[in-house]
Amino acid sequence: MFKPKAIYFEKDIINYPLGKELMEKYKDIPKVEIENHNNIEEMRKNPNSEFANMKRNLIIGIRKTHKFVENHKTSDYLVPYTSSGCTAACMYCYLVCNYNKCAYLRLFVNREQMLDKIIKTAEKSEKELTFEIGSNSDLILENTITNNLVWTIENFKNAEKGKLTFPTKFDMVDPILPLDHKGKVTIRMSVNPEEIINKVEFGTSRLTGRIEAINKLKEAGYNIGILIAPVILVDNWKELYQELIQRLSQELSEKVKRDAFFEIIFMTYSYVHTKINEEAFPNSINLYNRDIMTGRGRGKYWYKSQVRSEAESFLREQMQRYFPNNKIEYIV
Ligand code: SF4
Repeated sequence: MFKPKAIYFEKDIINYPLGKELMEKYKDIPKVEIENHNNIEEMRKNPNSEFANMKRNLIIGIRKTHKFVENHKTSDYLVPYTSSGCTAACMYCYLVCNYNKCAYLRLFVNREQMLDKIIKTAEKSEKELTFEIGSNSDLILENTITNNLVWTIENFKNAEKGKLTFPTKFDMVDPILPLDHKGKVTIRMSVNPEEIINKVEFGTSRLTGRIEAINKLKEAGYNIGILIAPVILVDNWKELYQELIQRLSQELSEKVKRDAFFEIIFMTYSYVHTKINEEAFPNSINLYNRDIMTGRGRGKYWYKSQVRSEAESFLREQMQRYFPNNKIEYIV
């Protein structure tokens, strides 16, 4: 159970039921009042070596930006939802956008307003829309603190239209198993070889737990996607990913294998990640490999196209061998 070191809060959160609830839940934890969850000066000024320590705090505020961003992968819109950031520390985390500013977990208490906008947008649309609600955080993790996912599924199930989806790297799925979700929720479990989880995805659930969680979620009627992501081309990557795909084929239930779809995403990395990781995790592996990576603009790196296409062919072969009947939505 996550026990925050300190709570940084905007004073107006107590005007919301969840804000009141969280202040009561953490009444014994030291508090710091802040003007705006987007700009906490004392955190911004911290050195990168404080990165992991900062993640032990909890920031509670009110989400002010509610702009949906069009998406063309497994959803129609990316929706800013009830949290941003995370208590875990994957070395490549795509939320580490601006030094350490957005890395820690921020919770937003105006959940009624956010879900209401999703429901109204779904109802107004002629097309059946899918909303990605987990692109800024990990909702299975967040749920252990706020119960927001249970609340969301229960309050969304009777909406006339629309579907929800989110990715996760966590296995604490039990609270949502008994819910009557009416088939409107797709959960996409992100997996990586155990060795990569241990060395790179600090603070997330182990592979065994994630596989068990997928089987339980399917048994509970949820639609299941599996993200092999991010694919990291370490020296022995072929062996690791072949073992991973084989293990999935052995340990996923027949029900999951019948219709789960896959997404495969190669890692992108950045100069900012390199700086933070060097200072925050000095004994960790170096994910930047100049021989096989190239610049992608604005301090970002990805694998060279020749390297990616060879890796893509290898992964497609393995998928064909172990999951011949499952759709790969995309490899990017
Ligand atoms: S679990 Fe997701 S949000 Fe959390 S650190 Fe890892 S990549 Fe980032």
